[in-house]
Amino acid sequence: MNNRERDQVTVREVGFEEALDTVMPILRDIKKSLRRAPKATRTSLEQLTSVKATPKVTAEITPISSSVKKPAAPAPIPTRSAAPNEKPATPTSTTRASHSSKDQVDDGRLPKLEELKKNILTCTRCPNLVSSRTQVVYGVGSPFAELMFVGEAPGEEEDLRGEPFVGRSGREVLDKMIAAMEYTRNDIFIANVLKCRPDMPEGESGNRKPKPAEMATCLPWLREQIALIKPKVLVTLGATAIEGLLGESVTMRDVRGKWLDYNGVPLMPTYHPAYILRNQTMAEKRKVWEDMLLVMEKLGRPISAKQRSYFLPKA
Ligand code: SF4
Repeated sequence: MNNRERDQVTVREVGFEEALDTVMPILRDIKKSLRRAPKATRTSLEQLTSVKATPKVTAEITPISSSVKKPAAPAPIPTRSAAPNEKPATPTSTTRASHSSKDQVDDGRLPKLEELKKNILTCTRCPNLVSSRTQVVYGVGSPFAELMFVGEAPGEEEDLRGEPFVGRSGREVLDKMIAAMEYTRNDIFIANVLKCRPDMPEGESGNRKPKPAEMATCLPWLREQIALIKPKVLVTLGATAIEGLLGESVTMRDVRGKWLDYNGVPLMPTYHPAYILRNQTMAEKRKVWEDMLLVMEKLGRPISAKQRSYFLPKA
């Protein structure tokens, strides 16, 4: 690889997130003006992602990338005050067990998951959602994940980018929560009950809650994902996700922090990241963090004293 090619690869790798931030508003404008989404988004983004993820490329750019500003490491769940014991540290340990697929022995699930992914990505069971969606949002993470987060449905950002929880609540709450647990998105799996963005009335923007019937139609896909990935623990994000997965209408006040069961898999309900984004008090953040401490204990993960103290009031 000559210097020019190497520089181009560096820009592609380092500037991926920034490029997406630039492209997203343009895609949104195109979608609004055409009332139909561009159809090449998934393929294009997957190609970009594969460039970013190629180990050979990463290794080659390391020596020269130090001169380029890289995206910041995951920060703690946002807090209004900056007391030392409130902030989860960015993970630094290299002694944690990795849960990435390369460390796992395939028990035959990989081809099955590939087949499932193809089927989900081409699903046309809901004609109204097929005509309004940009793409199906399959899910992201390790096929061997021990922990799976389940949300309700893709929003506008997720619909455009083809990945769950990439909007503000995903980036500013869920990603930081995952980092505080000393995982990455590659270690766990994140999926939604509904794989297509709920359609909005003409002329309206924003996102709407999926209807029970829509979730029931799509639920078999999530069930298959769970059956193949075999997580040891499920975490549902928000009441709608529980309703979609278990078919029970609940209030978060009643179920949050209590273990439920999904076909023998322990299920921890916690608040949706968007709720935390709207209610950024230490008390609400602590509730979610206590749920995650229970999850970590259930998974047998070591928990430091510092982790146990996140979001507690200062002594
Ligand atoms: S919401 Fe689910 S069932 Fe409906 S079209 Fe999308 S993938 Fe298929």
